[in-house]
Amino acid sequence: MSPDTTSSDRGDEPRPATRAITAGRATSGSSLATALWASSTWETADLDDANTRATGLRAEEYYSRYGNPTVQAFEDAIAELEGAEAALAFGSGMGAIATTVFTLCSAGTHLVAQRQLYAGTLAFLQGPCRRLGIDVTFVDGTEPGALTAAVRPGQTMMVLAETPSNPRLELVDLDELGSIAGPFTVVDSTFATPIGQRPLAHGVDISLHSATKGIGGHNDATLGVIAGDRDLLDEIWSYSVLHGATPSPFDALNALRGIRTLAVRTTHQAASAQRIAEHLAGHRHVSAVHYPGLASHPQHELARRQMTMAGTVLAFEIDGGRPAVEDFFDRVALCRVATSLGGPETLVCHSATSTHVSLTPAEQAETGITDGLVRLSVGLEDTDDLLVDLDRALDRSA
Ligand SMILES: *Cc1c(COP(=O)(O)O)cnc(C)c1O
Repeated sequence: MSPDTTSSDRGDEPRPATRAITAGRATSGSSLATALWASSTWETADLDDANTRATGLRAEEYYSRYGNPTVQAFEDAIAELEGAEAALAFGSGMGAIATTVFTLCSAGTHLVAQRQLYAGTLAFLQGPCRRLGIDVTFVDGTEPGALTAAVRPGQTMMVLAETPSNPRLELVDLDELGSIAGPFTVVDSTFATPIGQRPLAHGVDISLHSATKGIGGHNDATLGVIAGDRDLLDEIWSYSVLHGATPSPFDALNALRGIRTLAVRTTHQAASAQRIAEHLAGHRHVSAVHYPGLASHPQHELARRQMTMAGTVLAFEIDGGRPAVEDFFDRVALCRVATSLGGPETLVCHSATSTHVSLTPAEQAETGITDGLVRLSVGLEDTDDLLVDLDRALDRSA
């Protein structure tokens, strides 16, 4: 998996790493940095002007819940990297998911989702969606044809996938998802970032990210974003001003700065993740390693087909269950015990007691979230130092 293969057939067109340097800069004049427009409101010249701003689609200078120039610069950058006509930012990844689902689905309609999901998404689909009368069917996203087979013609409004999935790095075939006719297809592509895969090129309607993670990349912004066709995003925008998951201009600016280094960060982190995954796969206290870059990953070939790199996150199972994980967490020094991913610091978390604690024991068992499972978000430290830290923490001298 070499970076930028998705555009290597584009001749002289800049590759994603190059585009990331200037993406979204069209409106910043001769400034190399984008300005922070903290404004919540803009002055109007007269009633006609006020009317134009109040009724225009995606008005940029009217009121910040409708649009904001700094947020727009971030959205333009994401659209460019995703190869989309447009992008739309939200106050968080969950804001992006909730707004998208509530725009496209209503009471009495049907939504298909994979079972392997970020726990917040799962809780949202099982709780508020069902409470408001949206019928949700969960299937195993790794099973070929399962998402397609669950579609009910005329009733299914949306098919939602997440690939690679949190926390076990399972994949959904983007070509299959993109070929589903009828419902809108949406991919949570957070774990891949726009550098690691481009769902829209596979025919998927919407690529969605928690930009809080790899895109922002510095643990200093809470933000979500979607990319897709302009008409569809305009429709989602119209509902988003009522839903109110409005992004902060400051967070959009931080995330835009994150985009400038996204390719170099993810390339380094993915190379480190590959080495760590290979190392852990041979460790005597580790019973399994989940990483799409490993030949032992059941969907390794699919990863090679649809991803330019295998990603910055891996998961592994420590022998000895929860007590062994507690011991490991006590001993790590460089790796920090914290939730989230995609930042400069390497983070470890225990999904069963933190990110996926809302799942019932049966759901945890069904999705492979065992007591010994540790998710590792590989940071920007020197890989050798990380290997030393992991070995030291795993060594129970037994
Ligand atoms: C973190 C995350 C989300 C939610 O994003 P927030 O910015 O925390 O709201 C959704 N999907 C995935 C895959 C995530 O990792």
